[in-house]
Amino acid sequence: MRLWVLTFFALAASGIASGQSVAPLKVYISADMEGIGGVSTWDKQSSPKGADYEKFRRLMTLEVNAAIAGAYDAGASDVLVSDSHWDGQNIDPELLDRRARMVRAWPRPLGMMQGIDDSFAAAVFVGYHASEGQANAILAHTDSSTRFFEVKLNGVTVPEAGINAAIAEEFGVPVVFLSGDQTIGQEATRLLGAIETAAVKIAGGFYSATMLHPEECQRLIREGVKRGVEKRRQLKPYKLARPVKLEVTFKRTVDAEVASYFQGVERLRGNVIVYTANDMLEASRFFNAIGFLTVD
Ligand SMILES: [Zn+2]
Repeated sequence: MRLWVLTFFALAASGIASGQSVAPLKVYISADMEGIGGVSTWDKQSSPKGADYEKFRRLMTLEVNAAIAGAYDAGASDVLVSDSHWDGQNIDPELLDRRARMVRAWPRPLGMMQGIDDSFAAAVFVGYHASEGQANAILAHTDSSTRFFEVKLNGVTVPEAGINAAIAEEFGVPVVFLSGDQTIGQEATRLLGAIETAAVKIAGGFYSATMLHPEECQRLIREGVKRGVEKRRQLKPYKLARPVKLEVTFKRTVDAEVASYFQGVERLRGNVIVYTANDMLEASRFFNAIGFLTVD
């Protein structure tokens, strides 16, 4: 059922004749942690055992709140957030903006995009990081820093933002905004076009970056999300040709060996497999399954 909201005062204020309805505007926010302002290591800040983890999960929640506020500034009627870092249980539920709903914990077939569907008008990525192998990129990795070295979609190396944009495309949803360091911002705009980005830190290496104050990060995110959601119709979803070829280079050869037992998988080299899927949703289910596959 689609919900139509009729708000007399809002319509009167905007000068629209009363009696017209306002369509809902749903925004999906996928949140990671390595690209949150101030985060530069797993050990100290972004792993649950880190000495400063409690502080940085709070800052992650505040950056997500800034994105929610930006979405509402642009007219959003509904926001769904997916907590998509580590065990998927980082965002503080009490501190989260009460206008949002939240998806938590793994496993889930659409990974960092669980809950998105064709009722959404825009997707927003907060706290994202560059793909494994990028220089000057804080904590650069692709999905799992211990399992995977590289992921390609139809022959193109992609960061998590590319995988997740391709999932959003299955529902016709464009990515409109991404925050993180400058390197993932550049990777994302190369792949996705003129989306809005906020560089909340300038990475000088894998662990070291020049940081902005948290409130400045939140301001950039709120303003960027507002601009992104407002220009959503100018942005194209990230469309892949079908079938979708998902190529994965594993860090451990034995994991690739076991992944190659599945139907539809070809083993290109000892540690490289390619899975041929009918669409990105099928590719995502496979990718999330092998993400939990570790052979000891
Ligand atoms: Zn993460």
